[in-house]
Amino acid sequence: MEYPPELSKEEEKFLLDNLKDWSIAHGLAVRPAPTFVQPSQDPSGVLASTAPVTLFPSLFPRSCFEEGLAIQKAYNELYSAIARDEKWLQSIVEELVDVDDFVAKLWQTHLAVKDEGYVQDLSLGLFRSDYMVHQDPNKSDSPPGLKQVEFNTIASSFGGLSSHVSALHKFLLTIDAYPSSISSVIKADNLRQSKSASSLAKGLAAAHKAYGPSRTSRPLCVVFVVQDPERNVFDQRHLEYALLEENGVRSFRLPFGETLSHTKLDADRTLVYIPPNSPSTQYEVTTVYFRAGYSPDDYPKEQDWTARQHLEKSRAIKCPSILTHLAGCKKVQQVLATPHSPHLKRFLPESEVAARVLATFAPIYPLDSSEAGREARGLAADPASASRYVLKPQREGGGNNIYRKAIPPFLEKLPETHWPAYILMEMIEPPPLKNAILRNGELQRGGVICELGVYGICLWRDGGGAEQKGEILESWEAGYLLRTKGDQSEEGGVAAGFGAVDSCCLVDG
Ligand code: ADP
Ligand code: MG
Repeated sequence: MEYPPELSKEEEKFLLDNLKDWSIAHGLAVRPAPTFVQPSQDPSGVLASTAPVTLFPSLFPRSCFEEGLAIQKAYNELYSAIARDEKWLQSIVEELVDVDDFVAKLWQTHLAVKDEGYVQDLSLGLFRSDYMVHQDPNKSDSPPGLKQVEFNTIASSFGGLSSHVSALHKFLLTIDAYPSSISSVIKADNLRQSKSASSLAKGLAAAHKAYGPSRTSRPLCVVFVVQDPERNVFDQRHLEYALLEENGVRSFRLPFGETLSHTKLDADRTLVYIPPNSPSTQYEVTTVYFRAGYSPDDYPKEQDWTARQHLEKSRAIKCPSILTHLAGCKKVQQVLATPHSPHLKRFLPESEVAARVLATFAPIYPLDSSEAGREARGLAADPASASRYVLKPQREGGGNNIYRKAIPPFLEKLPETHWPAYILMEMIEPPPLKNAILRNGELQRGGVICELGVYGICLWRDGGGAEQKGEILESWEAGYLLRTKGDQSEEGGVAAGFGAVDSCCLVDG
C-alpha cells in the first residue's frame, strides 16, 4: 500500500480546502513569516496563517509510541531529582562555566538568589522529551526502537497546537477527505488524539493552586513571560485560554524585556504584576511560566539578567527555576547517556524504571579530556566517522547544531579549549517515511523524518539542600507532539522554519 496515497486533483482540492478552513477556524495558526507576508502588507498585524501541517497523520510504530508515553513519569522524576540536586548540577556546570558564558550567567544568577535565600520551595516543570524512531540501517529486520533526541525543561512549545492537529486529522478522516485505499490504516482507532493543551494548562493550574492564598489580598494570576514579537503566539494562547476556561485561572503575557517595568517585589518578595492597561488593579503572581529566557538572544541588555534574577528570587513558583533550566543542558543529557555512565541510578534508584529510561538513550560523548572524551575527539575530527554524529552546544531553540561532515571543519576552526562546550551524539536513523507538508501555502511531498515529543508535568517541593531531598507533589504524562520535516533537512524546528506539526497514526510491526 502506498502511504500517503496519490490524490486526484479533486481529492486534493477537497482535502486542502477543508484543512485550511478548519485550521483557521480552530486556531491551528501562526503569525505569518515576514518572508511570506511582508510587514508592509499587514502594518497592523491582523493576519494569521495555517501553521505548517502535514496533510496526513504520519505512520508511527505503536510500541514506540506507547513506550514513550509510559516512561514519561519516570523522566519527570529523573529531571525533578536532578533539579533538586544542586551539588551534582554544580559539578556539571563547573565543566561549562569557562567555555559557555550563558550557562555561567545562569549559574551566577542562581548563586546570587541562593545568597539572599530562596523563598519559594515549590517548582514546576512543563517538560517535553523528544524522540525519534531508530532502526539500524544495516539490519532492516530489527525492531524499531525509541531513542531520545533531547529533553526540554524550559519553554517546551507546541502543546497548544498539537491538540489541534490531531483533531484536524481526525476531522479529515471523518469527512472522508482520505481516500478509501488507506482505510485499513487510517481509522479512528489508530489516530491518537493529544490532550496536551488541556493537560499543560492543568499543570499551570496545579502550581497556581499549590501557591496558596494571596498574602496581600490582591487577586492572583499566572504570568507568561514571552518573547516579543512571537509568531507562535496562538500555541501559547491555547494554554492561556485553557487555563482560564477550564481552570478559572487568570493569566497575563509579559514580554521578558518589560519585566522590570510591569512587575515589582514586595518586602517579603511577593511578585506583583501591574497590568499596563489598568495599573490600579495589581495582581499577585503565583506562577511564572517562561516561554522566553532560554536563549542568549533574550538578554541583549545587562538589565535582562537583573530581570531574570528578580523573577527567580520572587515568591512566585517558577516554571522552570534556574536549576531546572540548567538540568535541561545537553551536557546533563550527555553525562547520563555516555556508555557505562553510573549517574542514572543515582536519580532513578528502581532498576527496572532506570532500565526502561536507559533503553531510550542514544550514545552521547563529551569532548573533554576524559577517556570517553578523547575517544570522541577522534571520532569527531575524522570525516569518515563524523558522518554518523551530530555536534551540539548548550543551546535551545533550533539552528545551533553541526551535523555529520560539517563537524571536522567546524572543530578545526574552534580553539580546543572550547571543545568541551559541545557534546557529540550518535545520529538516530529513522526508517524511511513519506508525507506531504503544507507550509506558507506551498505543498511539499516526499521523504520525511518524524520527531515525537512527550509532555510531562511535574510539581515538586525542594528539600533545600544538597542531596535531592524534597518530594514530588504532582506528576503526569501530558500528551504528545509529532513534528515532521523533509528528510533533506537535519534540523527539525517548526518555528525555526524546518518542520510541520503532525499527529500519529499507529501501526503494528
Ligand atoms: P534544540 O535544543 O535546538 O531543539 P535538538 O537536540 O532538539 O536541539 O536538535 C535539533 C534537531 O536536530 C532535532 O529536532 C532533530 O531533528 C535533529 N537532531 C538532533 N539530534 C539528533 C540525533 N541524535 N539524530 C538525528 N537527528 C538529530
Ligand atoms: Mg529540539
